[in-house]
Amino acid sequence: MNHLINEVKKERPATLLPLPKKLKAVLFDMDGVLFDSMPGHAYAWAKVMTDYGLPMKPVDAFENEGRTGIGTISIFTQRYWGREATEEEARELYIRKTAVFNEYQAAHGGEAPEIPGAAAVLDKVREAGLLRMLVTGSAQQSLLSRLDRHYPGHFKPELMVTGDDVRYGKPNPEPYLMALQKAGISADEAVVVENAPLGVRAAVAAGITTIAVNTGPLDPQLLANEGAAVVLESMEELAKRLDYLPADPQIKTLDN
Ligand code: MG
Repeated sequence: MNHLINEVKKERPATLLPLPKKLKAVLFDMDGVLFDSMPGHAYAWAKVMTDYGLPMKPVDAFENEGRTGIGTISIFTQRYWGREATEEEARELYIRKTAVFNEYQAAHGGEAPEIPGAAAVLDKVREAGLLRMLVTGSAQQSLLSRLDRHYPGHFKPELMVTGDDVRYGKPNPEPYLMALQKAGISADEAVVVENAPLGVRAAVAAGITTIAVNTGPLDPQLLANEGAAVVLESMEELAKRLDYLPADPQIKTLDN
């Protein structure tokens, strides 16, 4: 019997998640974590920016994911035009990008599909008695109804930070700090789930333990370099590891 217990214990380290001891909330990014919307965004960014004489590849969109639209546009106008975009240029380009994104989605089933494993992760987090929060740079009006349709009952408007709430956006820690404030919790009571290097940077700068899920085409090392506590290959893998969460609170942390 003891032998068996030891065997089980030996297996556990591989499944451990580096979670804080006083965990109360899990903060979820949206694009690339809950919805597989990044291929559409990457297509739209690359097409529209290139049309405007700003050479951009789809992979560049993954590397810049998390920035506000204006932030991404400015990086490329600085690089190729040697100056910031004017407000009017940025607005026009962003409106065009949004239109191309919507066309792409319409041609691909109408709406970005769920990321496999995301529903299971949310259910396990709820079963563990933890808050679920959304922290996204997206500011779509339909966001809440879409979340409710796909992930019913998980997200409340008062526990969400969207692109409409923030001034700077990721990689600034602002959105994640705002989320902590909304929930009335401290950084060591939360964990973040992010897929983008700049999102990881923002969460780490807010002092929050960050789990990266590499759902896109980037080298996982980019996520580790930004300070992710662990880099997983999918939300399905995260769901599997969360099996240990409600069953045995003692193994919530790596350091006990
Ligand atoms: Mg994302």
